[in-house]
Amino acid sequence: MDDDPTAWPAAALRRLDAERAALEPTPLRAFPLAHDVAVLLKDESALPTGSLKHRAARALFRHAIASGRITEGTPVVEATGGGAALAQATFARLLGLPYTAVLPGAPDPRRAAPLEALGAEVRFVTPPLAIYATARELAAATGGCFLDQYAHAAHALDHRGDDPAIELAAQLPAPPAWIVAGAGTGATAAAFGRHARTYGTGTRLAVADPENSACFPAWVTGDLGYATGMPSRIEGIGRPRVEPGFLPGLYDLVVPVPDAASVAAARAARAATGLPVGGSTGTCLWAALHLAARPAATGTTIVAVLGDAADRHLRTVHDDAWAAAKGLDPAPYAAALDRFAAGGPFTPP
Ligand SMILES: *Cc1c(COP(=O)(O)O)cnc(C)c1O
Repeated sequence: MDDDPTAWPAAALRRLDAERAALEPTPLRAFPLAHDVAVLLKDESALPTGSLKHRAARALFRHAIASGRITEGTPVVEATGGGAALAQATFARLLGLPYTAVLPGAPDPRRAAPLEALGAEVRFVTPPLAIYATARELAAATGGCFLDQYAHAAHALDHRGDDPAIELAAQLPAPPAWIVAGAGTGATAAAFGRHARTYGTGTRLAVADPENSACFPAWVTGDLGYATGMPSRIEGIGRPRVEPGFLPGLYDLVVPVPDAASVAAARAARAATGLPVGGSTGTCLWAALHLAARPAATGTTIVAVLGDAADRHLRTVHDDAWAAAKGLDPAPYAAALDRFAAGGPFTPP
């Protein structure tokens, strides 16, 4: 059987299935509101590597193996701001594949250490936008596979048990009125939107979009070439260009969220759950509150994605000095949020 070219891929895919089968569904956590509407947070921080990137990483490996881009021993390379690398390094190790993460910025042992502990190689590259070309060249030079989450994740995350929407559907007695997700690669939003259309659940999809993101202007204008050229202050979402995985035809609504509102809502989510959530959770929660404040929301359920939680966020969105240094004042948004949560109207500044 050693020379059977299908043997390793089939065994590798069974390993991914087994890893998936051993996991519990990620919990739904209530965000308390004194209104007749349920806002629930789908807590993806409960995944083994602490973020929704765990599902995307499994799906990317599954898709690349099933597509013949990865086979036994293929070196795998990814260009990433950081969030995806931990999950991908974990799956590379599970499958016995060499893995290199190409990260933006100056060499930083604190960022490299958790990846190196998983057996990954880490390359730091400046300027930040050079990570994509570097990863592509590295993969070409080693006969490896550039995993390329921005090109593939939104199409890969629609397979078997990787799909968060299939999992959510089994957790709720009835489909929610709205799902609120951010858009980094676009994979999570696409998975929820495709599920609603495939099964006719009636659930609508809102994308919560931070400042400097190309997603909202592209959705409004229909111009998929729209680029802001500006980095996002909200980790994991807010891309400067329209990524291949952004599928505006799937988005019933895109809600632009001020970064100061994302910070205020992330802190409220932390207070409600005890989890040091990242900024993207705040962006999704803020957009969910917008929807919850509509008269039509009475009696409905809205699910927002809690994308990650990590102690490093205590030094960013949960830290007043960080917010001030970024020029963000969450106080007026926090006041509006508290007023609404206590049963009052939603009247953001
Ligand atoms: C990547 C990421 C997102 C966006 O998810 P996509 O599926 O890539 O669009 C949201 N939040 C966090 C914390 C992320 O890392």
